Amino acid sequence: MGLSEIDARVRKAADDAGRAPDSVELIAVSKVQPNERVEAVLREGHRSFGENRVQEAVGKWPGFRDSYDGIILHLIGPLQTNKARQAMELFQAIHSVDRPKLATTLARLAQDIGACPDLFIQVNTGEEPQKAGIMPSDTDDFVAECRALDLPLQGLMCIPPVEEEPSLHFALLAKLAARNGLDGLSMGMSGDFERAIALGATHVRVGSAIFGERDYG
Ligand SMILES: *Cc1c(COP(=O)(O)O)cnc(C)c1O
Repeated sequence: MGLSEIDARVRKAADDAGRAPDSVELIAVSKVQPNERVEAVLREGHRSFGENRVQEAVGKWPGFRDSYDGIILHLIGPLQTNKARQAMELFQAIHSVDRPKLATTLARLAQDIGACPDLFIQVNTGEEPQKAGIMPSDTDDFVAECRALDLPLQGLMCIPPVEEEPSLHFALLAKLAARNGLDGLSMGMSGDFERAIALGATHVRVGSAIFGERDYG
């Protein structure tokens, strides 16, 4: 596969859903990938990337930013409050706002820094005990809480349970977003981004289908 094929499939899926082909942001998830692969995608002109660890991103992206303009970084993994300031200074969007303590920390830091990345609330649509995210039934209250803190909420994000049909989770996330007046839907990965786009995804997070398998060894 690779960037150009995935980009074409994203645009086609949007078109098939009766949406503008550029209405979906393709986030190239570069976590764990060797720098040569990341740089190849930068050279092709892609600028939107996702990382799931603050530490890894801090080591990797300032260097690329010296060579390439217009890079947009999305944090898609869990955020500890003691790394929140670093994350806010590096990333343009955080997709993993998943608890009140993090929301209040982000609000305090936003005051201090004078800016805040775009924020997505992570919803645990499968209600999996080991997974991060706000429960679906708590989502409306948490959205209200974030709004009361003046946080720039863009939308909702989910990671469906691996063994379930993701479309059910995408549809639930879309319903929760719509009833809260949120436009952003961060959903869909390598195996299911077309289904996510059919159900309204505005941001798809695609790693291995662009870069190849991650080598954790
Ligand atoms: C790693 C990761 C992805 C990308 O997964 P692929 O299956 O490689 O496309 C998407 N979202 C999150 C939150 C991830 O951690």
